[in-house]
Amino acid sequence: MRKWTPILLLTLYLLGIGVTVGLKNKDWLVAQGMSLWSQMPSPPKFERVIAETVSPSLSPSPDIKLVVAEELPEQPEATHAQPKTVANVNNVPVPGTCALQPDPNPTASGRVGPPVNPVTLYRFRRPTDVQTANLQGGMSYAPNEYQALANPTNYGQRFLYDINGQPVNNAPIVVIHETVSDVYSAVNFFQTAQNSEDNQASYHTLIMLTGDIVYIVPPDLRAFGAGDSVFATSTGTETVKTHPQRPPSVNNFAYHVSLETPADGRNNADSHSGYTAAQYQSLAWLVAKTGVPDYRITTHAAVDRSGERRDPRSFDAQLFLQYLQSYPRTQEIMISCQSAYLN
Ligand SMILES: [Zn+2]
Repeated sequence: MRKWTPILLLTLYLLGIGVTVGLKNKDWLVAQGMSLWSQMPSPPKFERVIAETVSPSLSPSPDIKLVVAEELPEQPEATHAQPKTVANVNNVPVPGTCALQPDPNPTASGRVGPPVNPVTLYRFRRPTDVQTANLQGGMSYAPNEYQALANPTNYGQRFLYDINGQPVNNAPIVVIHETVSDVYSAVNFFQTAQNSEDNQASYHTLIMLTGDIVYIVPPDLRAFGAGDSVFATSTGTETVKTHPQRPPSVNNFAYHVSLETPADGRNNADSHSGYTAAQYQSLAWLVAKTGVPDYRITTHAAVDRSGERRDPRSFDAQLFLQYLQSYPRTQEIMISCQSAYLN
């Protein structure tokens, strides 16, 4: 029973939220671990809420499908939309989701990102060979993973060239944030169309207090996580200007991960009680899968140039790095719009 207690609590919590907001957003998709719901001692209430939302026969225009990634490895090509192609500098088509260059005369609402329909786990991460990973250790940890896709106004494509036509080829970085709000408010915001560029925002991934992982924007796309930002190292500074009227940012090469803020931190104070051990563990588990080296893992506070961002507050970097060392670095999460994994 003890094993199921956290799941029971989470289900009750989700059920409560679902009732509260009427599952307004409707696409809390279970990317993995769906079987957990059915293994619950008394899941019927929650399942009913989901079924009413999901079933095409019950909803004229369902925008939700349940996705059990483990049982749906790669879709056959025929049923998969072919990735858009763009031409690189030599006019050779590059498969992927990159855009060539930012719009030199953007509208106030900007260009919306390519719509992403409910997808398999593989869009967010491509699991490595389990046996190999087991040999490397660290594979016994398996957080629940969900997808709650953002509205396309809240993300864009990654660019191959900056606003001035210069090619951009920064290696990826990981930027760590905190939500300040609870995770449900955050998801609600990301799933709401934001028609003014001033309000558009997203992370790639959220990590709940429970350690559960929620994928918001696929890693091949550009999440709007740090508007006015620069990544500074001993060898120089990195930032990409993608908008004629706005400061440059790291978004073009960043993977944004945000930790759900504990209840006592949902304010403007300088600190709070910190993150859960499950969050540190999930963060390490996730970041290890990006293959990004330690020196390219940073925080919003460190890259921010607006002077307004201090997150993640009360973050124990040493503890995180300790956890990080226990996971093998893999390339399961490809922070590139030219990822072969999109094929
Ligand atoms: Zn932030």
